[in-house]
Amino acid sequence: MVHNFNSGPSVLPKEVFEEASRAVLDFNGTGLSILEIGHRTSLFQAVIDEAIQTTRELMKLDSDHEVLFLHGGASTQFFQIPMNLLAEGSTAAYLDCGTWGKKAIKEAKLYGNVEVVASSKDRNYTYIPKGYNIPSNATYFHYTTNNTIEGTQMHSIPETSVPLVADMSSDILSYEMDFNRFALIYAGAQKNMGAAGVNLVVVKKDILGKAGRPLPTMMDYREHIANGSLLNTPPVFAIYVAMLTLRWLKQQGGVSVIEKINDRKAQLLYDTLDSLPVFHPTVAKEDRSKMNVVWVMDDPDLEKEFLAICKDNGMVGIKGHRSVGGFRASLYNALPLESVELLTSLMKEFALKKLNRICLRLFLSRHCGLLLSLPAR
Ligand SMILES: *Cc1c(COP(=O)(O)O)cnc(C)c1O
Repeated sequence: MVHNFNSGPSVLPKEVFEEASRAVLDFNGTGLSILEIGHRTSLFQAVIDEAIQTTRELMKLDSDHEVLFLHGGASTQFFQIPMNLLAEGSTAAYLDCGTWGKKAIKEAKLYGNVEVVASSKDRNYTYIPKGYNIPSNATYFHYTTNNTIEGTQMHSIPETSVPLVADMSSDILSYEMDFNRFALIYAGAQKNMGAAGVNLVVVKKDILGKAGRPLPTMMDYREHIANGSLLNTPPVFAIYVAMLTLRWLKQQGGVSVIEKINDRKAQLLYDTLDSLPVFHPTVAKEDRSKMNVVWVMDDPDLEKEFLAICKDNGMVGIKGHRSVGGFRASLYNALPLESVELLTSLMKEFALKKLNRICLRLFLSRHCGLLLSLPAR
């Protein structure tokens, strides 16, 4: 059995893979593949309608918020947002708390002024800045709810009257929050809600149409709203997989139910890391992510050794991001608790072996002067 800790694209529910593979051969008994149906047919309309409706239900959205499924991934939103919202000469406030947020800041500067209200760059983004001030004249305040690479997560929504814009790519629908407090939410589907190729955008209509610049049709949220995400050919298969993943989540009992399971997975892993002196979590305790858990070990050889054990036990995607090193376990909605249970039992076994070895070395050096004759591991 494979345990998939990939950071994205990442694990999806087994039921989704089964249903999607059936639909590639025969979509709903039509004799047609999902890959060959027209996007303006009633067949596909039913798919996108269910995707939008289930998103509305799971996020408990009010009627002011529109749900869009767009191309271009989360990275396109980095510029599409300021392009639509930020008038030239106006200022948007940004929180600099990770690699993705930094990229969003770079793009926003192409369209207006950016005020970085706080940054955790000084300690390699291992914590979430606090106590910062969001200027009340800012057009919007942008932040990343979960920093996929560094393993930090915001555990509350900032209190401000400034419209909130959030990149929720790696923790969307993983825990209950008041999504209606946001003016705009975006998320690439490939982390927690589907396959790569589609992007969820939830936008409050009243913030649109104020930037005063001409927009290419494909970049204008109002055009996408008016055309029900069918302005041009949408990523049909990616939207279908997102719909199946959303349907699965609803069948599990919704966000509140998956949140409890996510809490158990994260707690088990962090408790294990904290109890074993061989592993060192890199992130400030109060800012730890429940989706992406990052840790390092004392030396590269030890890391290599533990990585090989993980690999032997069917674990994939657990090596840390190249910019951080060490390990990263992504615990998205579809990752079963059993995968975390296996990982933590391997950790305990590994740590015990190493600690026994250290104790033996200490004992021998004290009593027999044999320290040098015993190999380190
Ligand atoms: C993965 C990720 C992105 C980039 O998503 P793309 O769809 O590849 O553009 C942006 N933000 C966050 C938080 C991510 O995790």
